[in-house]
Formats: sequence, structure tokens, C-alpha cells
Amino acid sequence: MNENMNRLTVEEIKAILRGADPIIMEGGRTLLAKILKGSREKKVLQLELDTCPVYGYFKSKKLDDIMEKIDWMIDYDFLDVEYRGKLPMIIFTERGWQIECDQYADELIREWKEWVNQGKQDPDMVYLKDRNRELILLFLDKVRETGNKSFIPYLKLWEQIDYKKVREAIRRTITALEDNEPVDEQRMQERNESINEALKGSAPQDLLLKCWDCGNRFSFTISEQQYFKQKGFQLPKTCKKCRNKRRELYYM
Ligand SMILES: [Zn+2]
Repeated sequence: MNENMNRLTVEEIKAILRGADPIIMEGGRTLLAKILKGSREKKVLQLELDTCPVYGYFKSKKLDDIMEKIDWMIDYDFLDVEYRGKLPMIIFTERGWQIECDQYADELIREWKEWVNQGKQDPDMVYLKDRNRELILLFLDKVRETGNKSFIPYLKLWEQIDYKKVREAIRRTITALEDNEPVDEQRMQERNESINEALKGSAPQDLLLKCWDCGNRFSFTISEQQYFKQKGFQLPKTCKKCRNKRRELYYM
């Protein structure tokens, strides 16, 4: 691990999470770096990753430097790696998803505001169907919090095409906007505080793990953790001594 690397800015953290969103469990670190670099590579264009709002965000940086930032994101518990077959894929950690979900919901709100400004009448709302449920419910909360009645026609269109559970939530949002229900300021504040907390990340530190063979605690260092994470390995269950012992038995 590069100990000299500065912590990323909040804006950089959010950009990398946004870039990871379209390739979760579909692509690895390198593909993510290419999105952020703004690569014209065939795979990037085929998957239409050039339409991602952070495509080319790190245009002026070298691919290696972008990779280093992504690895920092993995070290600080924003992203993780999980294997799909033999391929290591990028996934969100809980922390990373919390931040991404929030900024994505804001992005959807901005889009609706643009629609209102453009006087868009008949948007196809199918794009909101089959989305992550947590994202959709957060988006609806935020719609309600805007108090913006010009969103009601979009909500009504959306209500017609979505599943029952979501329809109920949409209906509640419409009613809240129509009746000028007061916004739950405390809930908003708590949510923002929680996001700010998440954005601090979790600095890697040596872990003390328990060995399942001998029962002793053993140290799992930062650099070992980084190696395991990038490889998508689970935490080791045994200490080195016991692991070596097993290996010897196996090869005897
Ligand atoms: Zn042991």
C-alpha cells in the first residue's frame, strides 16, 4: 500500500463511487479506471459507459494514478472486490453504497427539475422500474422534501407502471405534496450527518483475528489486508503457523 497517498477529497470519493455504479459486479478495477479516464476503448463504448456523468472525470491523470485512487477507495472501505467466477469485480461496501445511493437520488431529482424547466410532459417512467428499492424510496423521500408540486404529474405517470409496494410509496408522496405536509427536518439532518460520517471512510489498521485451529489471536496487517481485498479473498481463518502446519500435512 502506498502510505504517502493523500486522502481523496469528498468530490473525488463521490466521483469514483458514481463511476463504479454502472459496473457493480460487472467490471473490475481497471474498467472503473478507464471510465474515469474517459477511455475510448471498445468495451467502454459498447457498454455505453461514456454516458456515465463522471466519464473522463480524471481525464488528465495517468491510468496508474487513477488505479491508485481506486485502491485507496478499497483500503478505506468505500469499495470492495468480489469474485464472479475467476474475475475480480468491483462492489460497494455498505459505506460506499450509502453515499452512492444518496448522490444518485439527488441526481434523479436534478433530472426532474430539468424536465420541469424544459416543460417536459410525457416522460417514459419505465427507467425507474426495477431499480434498487432503497434508492427508489430515498428518491421519493427527497421528492417529498422538495415540496415541489410540479413533480406530481411525473409521480402520477410513474405510479401507473410500477409495482404495488412502490405504487403505495408514490401515492403517499403525491398526497404529502398535495397537502403540503411539513418536511421531517430532523430526519433530513440525521441522514446528512450519517452521509458526512460515511464520507470520512475507515482508515485501514492492523486487525487481530482469531485462529480457528489453535484459538490464538494473530495479527492481520494492513498490507496483508490490502492484498486479500484486491484478490477478493475472505479474511483468513487460521494463523500462519497453523496454515503452514496444514500445508505440511497435506504434502506429506
Ligand atoms: Zn493457529
